[in-house]
Amino acid sequence: MKQIRVLIAKPGLDGHDRGALIIAQALRDHGMEVIYTGLRQSPNQIAQAAIQEDVDVIGLSSLSGAHKSLFPKVVDALKAQQAEDIPVVAGGVIPPEDVPYLEERGITKIFTSGSSTEAIAHYIKQLIDKDREPVTKPKKIAHIGIAVHSIEQALPFYKDVVGLDLSVVEDVESEQVKVAFLKIGESNIELLEPLSDGSPIQAFLTKRGEGIHHIAFEVDDIHNRLAQYKELGVPLINEAPKSGAHQSEIAFLHPKAAHGVLYELCQPADKE
Ligand code: ZN
Repeated sequence: MKQIRVLIAKPGLDGHDRGALIIAQALRDHGMEVIYTGLRQSPNQIAQAAIQEDVDVIGLSSLSGAHKSLFPKVVDALKAQQAEDIPVVAGGVIPPEDVPYLEERGITKIFTSGSSTEAIAHYIKQLIDKDREPVTKPKKIAHIGIAVHSIEQALPFYKDVVGLDLSVVEDVESEQVKVAFLKIGESNIELLEPLSDGSPIQAFLTKRGEGIHHIAFEVDDIHNRLAQYKELGVPLINEAPKSGAHQSEIAFLHPKAAHGVLYELCQPADKE
């Protein structure tokens, strides 16, 4: 695989390039060749430099607040020079509310100020290296797990009041938990009742009482995804999948990875 070439550019008038230099160094540390255009480049100059240097990707940085007009202008300048196949990623001080607009205007990916340089480098590698497995989105919310003292006592609310159908009740010995699944659209509510005092659900009930315990993402590549999350420095409770309800494979991320939410990755058993 040839070395990835990146053009780092700062469109506009702001005179601070510390952020751009940090990104440039981080990408070099990841084995990329980085060309930095310097400060105060016009969108046209940036597009021209990208074409002349034959880069694989352009990284734009802006702290000035002018990103909403300047970033799309770079995309337009590439188009005008038949170089719209060069993807443009961008970062800097960009409020989250501007992200959908910029992505709609042709910026391939926006990294807001909290993004790690690891995540940016990882994204560029999978964007350019077609042999690399991309980090795809989870397919859907598989279920929302709710800790209860007793499934029997909780069921009337879900069945009789909300009107959901009970699809499965089973014991998951590995977790010392009894689970009941109630189907809702493409997802499920999963009620979790502890089977013993040693169950993690009992520990949760003792500490927090009944309530939402976790959210499960359905994925179809759990091994690969755990490896990618590990590479990104995401703290994991399970570094390898274990068996969950219904012969699924599951693994939990540490809640400190996700602002206090316990997420489960869940890969259903192959359907016959
Ligand atoms: Zn679950």
